[in-house]
Amino acid sequence: MSGPDQYGVVGHPVAHSLSPFIHAMFARQTGQSLSYRLFDFPPESLQERIAAFFAQGGRGLNVTLPYKVAAVACAAELTRRAQQAGAVNTLAMRKDGTILGDNTDGIGLTQDLCVNQHVIVTRRRVLIIGAGGATRGVIAPLLGLEPESITIANRTADRAKALAAAFAQLGHVRGVGFRYIAEGAYDLIINATSASLTGQIPDVPMGVIGSDTFCYDMAYGKGDTPFVRWCLELGCRAAAPGWGMLVEQAAESFRLWRGVRPLTGPVLCALTAS
Ligand code: NAP
Repeated sequence: MSGPDQYGVVGHPVAHSLSPFIHAMFARQTGQSLSYRLFDFPPESLQERIAAFFAQGGRGLNVTLPYKVAAVACAAELTRRAQQAGAVNTLAMRKDGTILGDNTDGIGLTQDLCVNQHVIVTRRRVLIIGAGGATRGVIAPLLGLEPESITIANRTADRAKALAAAFAQLGHVRGVGFRYIAEGAYDLIINATSASLTGQIPDVPMGVIGSDTFCYDMAYGKGDTPFVRWCLELGCRAAAPGWGMLVEQAAESFRLWRGVRPLTGPVLCALTAS
């Protein structure tokens, strides 16, 4: 490939992705010349198409639903956080011609919580609702902040229990079904279900939200998500949708590829203003 360095995001479908917009803003801001495109690869040829992209000189890819686990097989080596997540959202061509797999979702979340939202996680009680891929990617980074405990609550209890067991050696984490969430308000609640995408609210007890609770919805959209609205109505301290996580995980991918971490504030403003 000649011309600007080639990047993109792989998904199926992927047309809705905001990553081209985000990375174009990062590139302008940091004076980098690059191209960032959408790649809707079918599942049966995912690995061949990713290999062809890199063989033709491509420098890096983001990976989104439903391929974060499948794309692990495209990497010669994984960062520790990608190993812990069991999934990649970033692939990077290294100087030696091999592909590194990384996962920046966890640091995207902790960066948004701790830096942008000024939330303290250390020694706090954390409730994560949902036990899918997004939760898997953020447990180790959250445990790294040394919360008092993390409770993973999921509609299908067994998935929460299995996830908690997989991370038990890293800290105090347990998995439960919605009916068995411990009584009382949590300091931080993270909605990592896809319920918001269908306008639903996970069926967790209202008592988990108190006046000091910070609530975070990984989902984002125009205006407040249903979960954010619900938490605010119940009188939580504050609630935020997942725009910041989206932009911060992208900034970490950009840093891995280009060696410079762009400012996220201007991109966040542009996304939430539109
Ligand atoms: P996933 O692997 O498909 O998992 C979906 C989870 O949602 C499962 O735990 C599922 O429970 C639960 N769920 C779905 N509908 C529900 C409902 N009506 N009530 C209660 N629980 C429900 O999805 P994922 O990859 O983890 O993504 C989860 C969310 O995070 C999505 O909204 C995604 O857009 C968002 N996300 C945001 C960012 C960001 O940068 N902001 C990054 C990654 C993900 P069961 O196990 O019982 O089915």
